[in-house]
Amino acid sequence: MAALHIPSELRPIAAIFSQSGYRCFLVGGAVRDLLMGISPGDLDLATDATPQQVTSLFRRVIPTGVAHGTVTILFQGGQYEVTTFRTETTYSDGRRPDSVAFASTIDEDLSRRDFTINGIALDLNNGHVVDPFGGRDDIHRRVVRAIGEPDQRFGEDALRLLRAIRFAVKLGFSIDEDTLAAVRRAADSIARISAERVRDELTRMILSPDPRRALRLLRDTQLLEHVLPELTRGIGVPQDGSAAPDVFEHLALSTEGAPADRLDLRLAALLHDVAKPDCLQEQEGALLFYGHDESSATIAEGVLRRLRFPNRLIARVCHLIRHHMFHYTDEWTDSAVRRFLARVGGENVEDLFALRVADRYGKIGRHTPDPMLDELRGRITEMTARRDAVSVADLAVNGSDLMTAGIPSGPAVGTTLRFLLEAVMDDPNQNNRARLLEIARRFYEDRLNVEQ
Ligand code: ATP
Ligand code: MG
Repeated sequence: MAALHIPSELRPIAAIFSQSGYRCFLVGGAVRDLLMGISPGDLDLATDATPQQVTSLFRRVIPTGVAHGTVTILFQGGQYEVTTFRTETTYSDGRRPDSVAFASTIDEDLSRRDFTINGIALDLNNGHVVDPFGGRDDIHRRVVRAIGEPDQRFGEDALRLLRAIRFAVKLGFSIDEDTLAAVRRAADSIARISAERVRDELTRMILSPDPRRALRLLRDTQLLEHVLPELTRGIGVPQDGSAAPDVFEHLALSTEGAPADRLDLRLAALLHDVAKPDCLQEQEGALLFYGHDESSATIAEGVLRRLRFPNRLIARVCHLIRHHMFHYTDEWTDSAVRRFLARVGGENVEDLFALRVADRYGKIGRHTPDPMLDELRGRITEMTARRDAVSVADLAVNGSDLMTAGIPSGPAVGTTLRFLLEAVMDDPNQNNRARLLEIARRFYEDRLNVEQ
């Protein structure tokens, strides 16, 4: 068998195992990456030593999942998951094994793994590659293929349905025909998988280099109906002025157009028009989607909550979706730009613009210059440099100033501050203490303190 370059940090670890008479293999994604010439991510190890034996070999060991045979060793600044050889056991619920059984050989351990490209091991003591299922050939041919009988493997653990797509889009591989047919047949069983596990796979697909292909594969295998049913409604729903044939494709393409290192922006792009099918109206031959920004934000919130995304992320994504329909023209007055900033929040402007860039990409299929967006950005930059007030916090007076000036504490203070902000957004020259207190007194006397 061919020898492969062993990451040098693993040599002393392998030596410790072999000095005590144990085997030690690099397994999983790291072997696949090394064979592909990619620098590996997590270095996961497999051994015939039991978790207790591994624990006795190293000074610092965390019992990460002893019940599943896994411990984490901390060694010379690195972290390594070490799992005792295991066999595939029965998954009567299709989501987790009923029990875990240890195995005595690496071949048995590899046979429980999902895809041939993930079922290769590198013997750290002699550099030999152990590849019982033709994983190297499949890497060479760039194909994701289930180990053994695909129907059975997906029956054991339905998460593998999503993993097949995830690896295909992450690596740019095709999915073997029999494996893909089995994914289709088993699609309904994904309903048994917990929202958190589904979320983690979807996240990796969405952050992959080809989220559009992931979404198409989800659609074509009918997994989409289970994991993102809201998106299926946009299939076949047309939209004007777009190269994408339907709302679904527009969303998939927009996701691709959002930065690959930003989950919030990719999710916002994915869901920004999700309510369009509900809002569709035809007027004089034109397609209109009134209110789809607000409705899409509402649906997006439901999707992301169901998938148990963190609340902060959900709030960000929905905020961007809610505000994505701004239509800047050079006729906007400065005061209109300030009101836009006040609504969106200065800290969100660049992200909202990134969503707009993704949205345009989702219509045209490539990035194109957007002079209007650049102009709006330029005006905002000037206003920010001038420190124009766009929130109550930017005013030259605060609530206690108003109370000192005679406005009673309570809701009147907030109402007055908001009125002052409106006045200052119309005319920034008014943002000085004397002027604002004068406006505040008059506003309070005329509008708030009216005897009924
Ligand atoms: P990545 O580089 O994306 O982390 P990976 O191959 O390391 O890819 P992991 O999800 O970290 O993927 O899993 C590590 C290894 O464990 C896989 O390569 C595979 O051999 C095995 N594995 C993980 N989950 C499953 C599963 N649900 N069924 C079978 N084998 C699995
Ligand atoms: Mg991994």
